[in-house]
Amino acid sequence: MALPKVVGITLTTLTIPCFTAPIPTPSPSESLTRRGYTVDPTPDDHYSGDGVYAWPGQGKDQDGKNKNPIYYCWVTAEAADKYSDILEDAIKKWEAALYPNSALRIELYPDTHGNPHVVCKDLPQPVDALCLTDGGEEGSSVSTTGYNWIDQGQSYRHYVYMVGYGGKSHDEAVLDLAHELGHVMGLGHEHQRDDRDDNIIFECRYLSGVDEAYKAIKDSNDPAFADLGDDEEAKLDRTCDSWDLADKYFKNAKPFVLGRNVGYPFGQFKQNGNFDYNSIMIYSTWDNSVDVPDDKDNLDTAEILRYDQNGNPVRIFQGGNEDPALAGPTTGDVAAVVGLYPK
Ligand SMILES: [Zn+2]
Repeated sequence: MALPKVVGITLTTLTIPCFTAPIPTPSPSESLTRRGYTVDPTPDDHYSGDGVYAWPGQGKDQDGKNKNPIYYCWVTAEAADKYSDILEDAIKKWEAALYPNSALRIELYPDTHGNPHVVCKDLPQPVDALCLTDGGEEGSSVSTTGYNWIDQGQSYRHYVYMVGYGGKSHDEAVLDLAHELGHVMGLGHEHQRDDRDDNIIFECRYLSGVDEAYKAIKDSNDPAFADLGDDEEAKLDRTCDSWDLADKYFKNAKPFVLGRNVGYPFGQFKQNGNFDYNSIMIYSTWDNSVDVPDDKDNLDTAEILRYDQNGNPVRIFQGGNEDPALAGPTTGDVAAVVGLYPK
C-alpha cells in the first residue's frame, strides 16, 4: 500500500501497436458499465505484437465458455508455504470479477499438476506464467501490469513481489496483494488517471522523501528547470508532473505522475467512466505521507484527500474502507476487469 509501488513494466521499448482493437462488450453483465483505467483487451488470440494488453485468451473451456487464465507459479516453495493463504483470500476479493462472471481465472500453472512446490524454474522455460515471490521486508510490493508481449521469450516477465508482509496483518497483506492482482489483470492506479486533479487533491510536497527531493532539485543544474530561477516549489511541481524528472529527483512521486505524462505503456491505457475514489487501485491517505499526524482527521498535510458533498476534506481509503478486511474492489473495479475479459 505504500511507496514505491511502481508498476514494474519494461519502459525501454516505445513501440506503438499498429492497429486498434474493438472494445468487447461485457454483455453478460449488463449492469456493469465499463469503467476504469486499464490496458487494452488482447486484440486477438493470434496477436504476437509489441504491447501490454490483457492476458491473452486461451480459447474455450469444456463448457464452451471463453477462457482467459492467468496461470501463476511460485518462485520458491517457501513463498508458496508463506503466502498461499494470502493469495487465496486476495483472489476471493476479486471473486465478482472472475469466472463465471467473466472469462478470467487465476489458477496454478497446469504443469504443476496442482502442486505449488513445483516452482517456476521447474516449469518449461521460458515460463509463460505470473511468477509470485517473497520480496522481503524493505519497500513495497511491485508487480507487472497486464500481459507483456514485448518480453516474450524471457522467463519471469510477469511477476508480483510481495514486500513487507512480515509487518502486516493477514487482512492488510490480502488487501495489498489484491491491489497487485489488479495491476496483473491490467488495471492502472486510479490516482494516475488524467482526470485525477478534477476529483481528488494530490499534494506532492507532503509525500515522504520530499526534503531529499528539494535538496536534489536545488543542487541540480538541470536545464529542465532553467526557466524557474530559484522557485523551488515550481521546480518540485514540475518534477511531480514528469516521469523523467521524478525518476531523477523524487522517486516516491513516480506512482503519482499522471498517465499522460508517463508515456509508454500508461499512455496506451484507456480511461473509461467516472473516477472512483474508493477503488482498490487508489492509494490511501497517509500511506505515503512525510508526516503522519496522531490526529488522522487533521488533513492539513495529507498527500492525497478528497472533498465530500458538503465540501469538507476527508480521507481516502484504498478499497473504500479503513478496515482492510472490509476494503476491496468496488463495483467499478469489477466492471473494469469484466470489460477486459468478457465471458
Ligand atoms: Zn499499485
